[in-house]
Amino acid sequence: MSDLVKFLHARLNESERVERGKFKFKPFQVICPTCGERVESFGMQSGDNRTEFQPCGHIMSNAEFSERFCDPAPDSFTLADIESKRRIVDEYEASVRAVGEGLSKTLERILRLLAQPYANDPDYLEEWRP
Ligand SMILES: [Zn+2]
Repeated sequence: MSDLVKFLHARLNESERVERGKFKFKPFQVICPTCGERVESFGMQSGDNRTEFQPCGHIMSNAEFSERFCDPAPDSFTLADIESKRRIVDEYEASVRAVGEGLSKTLERILRLLAQPYANDPDYLEEWRP
């Protein structure tokens, strides 16, 4: 497997992980599990990974907050887009296996184009620039 193929699989797996980690708030009244008081607002602080309820001020981890009060909300178009790109990479690999790298130049160019949005990634190689 070429470095470009590994790079693309890694980026696509990352994108899928991010998308599957998206949650949306369930629109209902939130009751603080610590004190039983109705929560009027809450602040999620990604830096210290916790959610603070107002007005009571109790704290919950963002992970627990997501689990209790949110539904998974991956975007189906984004997941389909990732899967489509993954299949293009698979097609390239199948082509290299069948006819060798020299005859897969068009697919290789397509792979380089797929990698272009990740050009700022530290693992991106300048030689991949289309
Ligand atoms: Zn509370």
